[in-house]
Amino acid sequence: MAKIKIEFPDGNFKEFEMQTTVKMVAASISNSLAKKAVGARFNGELVGLAHQLTTNGSIEILTKDQSAALPILWQTGAVVLGAVLSQLYPQMNFGENAATEHGFYVDTDNQAGQVAETDFEKITKEVRNLVKKALPLEEVSYDVAEALKLIGDDPYRQDLIKSKAQGNQVRAIKLGNFVDFSATAVLPNSSALKFFKILSVAGAYWKGASSNPMLQRVYGTAFFKQADLDAELERQKEAHERDHRVIGNELDLFFVDPKVGAGLPYWMPKGATIRRTIERYIIDREVADGYQHVYTPVLANLNVYKQSGHWAHYREDMFPPMDMGDGEMLELRPMNCPSHIQIYNHHIRSYRDLPLRIAELGMMHRYEKSGALTGLSRVREMTLNDGHTFVTPDQIESEFKKILQLMVSVYRDFDITDYRFRLSYRDPKNKVKYFDNDEMWEKSQKMLKAAMDDLNLDYFEAEGEAAFYGPKLDVQTKTALGGEETLSTIQLDFLLPERFDLHYVGADGQEHRPVMIHRGIVSTMERFVAYLTEMYKGAFPTWLSPQQVAVIPVNNDLHLNYAHKLTDRLVANHVRVQIDDRNEKMSYKIRQAQVNKVPYTLVVGDKEVAADQVSVRRYGEEKTQTMSLAEFEKEVLADITSYSRA
Ligand code: ATP
Ligand code: ZN
Repeated sequence: MAKIKIEFPDGNFKEFEMQTTVKMVAASISNSLAKKAVGARFNGELVGLAHQLTTNGSIEILTKDQSAALPILWQTGAVVLGAVLSQLYPQMNFGENAATEHGFYVDTDNQAGQVAETDFEKITKEVRNLVKKALPLEEVSYDVAEALKLIGDDPYRQDLIKSKAQGNQVRAIKLGNFVDFSATAVLPNSSALKFFKILSVAGAYWKGASSNPMLQRVYGTAFFKQADLDAELERQKEAHERDHRVIGNELDLFFVDPKVGAGLPYWMPKGATIRRTIERYIIDREVADGYQHVYTPVLANLNVYKQSGHWAHYREDMFPPMDMGDGEMLELRPMNCPSHIQIYNHHIRSYRDLPLRIAELGMMHRYEKSGALTGLSRVREMTLNDGHTFVTPDQIESEFKKILQLMVSVYRDFDITDYRFRLSYRDPKNKVKYFDNDEMWEKSQKMLKAAMDDLNLDYFEAEGEAAFYGPKLDVQTKTALGGEETLSTIQLDFLLPERFDLHYVGADGQEHRPVMIHRGIVSTMERFVAYLTEMYKGAFPTWLSPQQVAVIPVNNDLHLNYAHKLTDRLVANHVRVQIDDRNEKMSYKIRQAQVNKVPYTLVVGDKEVAADQVSVRRYGEEKTQTMSLAEFEKEVLADITSYSRA
C-alpha cells in the first residue's frame, strides 16, 4: 500500500499507511496524546480524529487544553444542535452552520414557525439527552444523488450538496438521521457537548446576500470545561452592558427605527448635547491648526461623481440618483471630497496658499448593506469630521505628520489609548476597484510607510483596504462586541487632483498639480459617539456629559428656591444642570442620578440653605461632601476644562 509522509511541528517526519486516521497518528506519538486529542490541523485545515489522511502534509495534533481546538467542539455543537432542531421541528430546513469567534450558529428556516427564546429550555433539554446518549458523529461520503434523496426538499441543503460536491461524491457529517453538509471537523460523539448554552436567535440572509431569503440564525456556544463556559458568558454579559445600543437606549441618547428608515439615526437631546460638545471641540482644534471650515451641500449633480470616479468605483455604496425630470440627475454625496474640490477650484491658487486646509462637518449618505447596519457605528446617513488638505508634492510628508500629531493629541483629550495603526494598501490584482496606475500606488504606499517609520510608530499592513484613489493610514479600534473598526483615517490622493484638473501657480509662475490629503480625525459623529459610549460605558467625563449636575432639594416646599438660585448661578457659567423637583423620595432621585451617570449630584436641605452650601456626591462614590457653593463651582468648572490640551 502507498505511504504518506507526515511532518510534525518539531520538524520531524514519519511515514504512515495511506488512509491512516488522525487518531492513529496521535497514538503513534503516545497513548496519552491519543486520549487527549480532539482533532488536528492538517496542512492548515481543521480535521476530526476519524479523518483519513490521504496526502503528504504537516500535522499539529490539538488537545482539549488548546483554544485552537475549540472550533472543532463548536462545529460539533452546530451538528448536535441541528440534529436536535430537526427532531423538534420536523419541517425545518437548514442553511449553513459554522464556528464563529466565540461559539457557533445554525441557520434554519421553518415554515411552521420560528424558534422562540421560550423554546431554548426545551431545546437545551434535548441537547442534554443527546449528550447522555453519546451518539456517534460519523464522517461519511455520499453519492450526490443519494444525498439529495436523503435530505428531501430542503432547498438550502440541496444547494449546499451541489456546491460542495467533488465529482460525484459529497462529504457530510451524520448524527442519527440528521445529515450536515457544512461541518468538516467534529468530535467523535455527542457527549462532547456537555458544557453548552443556546445564546440567541437573529435574522441572517441565506449566503449573506440581501436579495436572498432571510433565515433564522440560532447561536450557541460550548466549552470543554464549565469554568470556561462561565467565563465566556460573563464576557458576553459585559459586552452587552457596554454595547452602545443598550446604553444609548438606557440613557436616551438616540434611536433608529427601521420603520422610519434603517440606518437613519435620531439624536435625542442628550445624545445631541454630547455630539455638539464634540463638534465645537474639534472645530476649535482644527481652526487653531490652520483649517478653514466651510459648509457645502449634500446634493450635487451626478456628473460630479462621474468625474470624481465615485460613480465608477463606489456606486454600490451610493444611493440611486434622483431624476429631476428635466434631464438633471442629482446625487446624495457619499463623500465630501468633490465638494471641497469645488471650494479649491473657485479661486486661482498659488503655492503661497498651500497647504490649503478645508474642513467641514460634512453630512454624507452611504447605502450600507442592511445586515451591516449597527446602532450608530454603521449608519446610512452620517456626518464626517472631514478635512482635505491641498499640498505641493514636497509638503506631503510634513502635512501627514502634522495631521498625525493633531490626531494623537485629540485622542489624548478623549482618553483613547487602545488603538492600532493600519497602513491600507490596494490589492494589486483588483483593477476594477482601484484605479490603474502602478507607479502612483507604489510611490505613495512607500511614502506612507517611510513617514510612519520615521515617526517610530508601530503599524500593520493590510492589502485591499485602500480607498479607490489612494493608500491610507487607518486607526483601528475595538468595539464592545469585539469587532474592529476604523475611527480615524489619513489618505493620500494623486487621482482626484487629476480628475478635476486642479492646479496652483508655482514660484516659477507655471501651473502645477497639487496633491490631496483626505483626513478624518474624530470619524463620523455617529461612529465616534458610539465608540465613546462603549469606551466610557456611558459614564462620560464631565465635559462631555449631557447633564453635568443634578440638584435635589430635600423638600420641594422648603428648599426649591435655594435650588433655583444655585442652578441659575451654574447655568450662567454654562454648566449643564437640572433640578429634580419631582414628588419622589430623595433616595430614589439620588439613585436615578446615578443610573443616568450624572457626574455630580447636589443635595440641598435646611443645613445647606442656612450656610449657603451644597452636599456633593460624585458619580460612582458613596460618600457625600459638604462645601460652599463657590467651592463647588470652582471644582466643577475645573473638571469641565480638565481634558488635557497637549
Ligand atoms: P469602513 O471601512 O468602516 O466602511 P471607509 O473606509 O469606507 O469605512 P471612509 O470613506 O474612509 O470610510 O470614511 C471615513 C470614516 O467614516 C471612516 O473611517 C469611519 O470612521 C466612518 N464611517 C464610514 N462609514 C460609516 C458608516 N456607515 N457609519 C458610520 N461611520 C462611518
Ligand atoms: Zn475625502
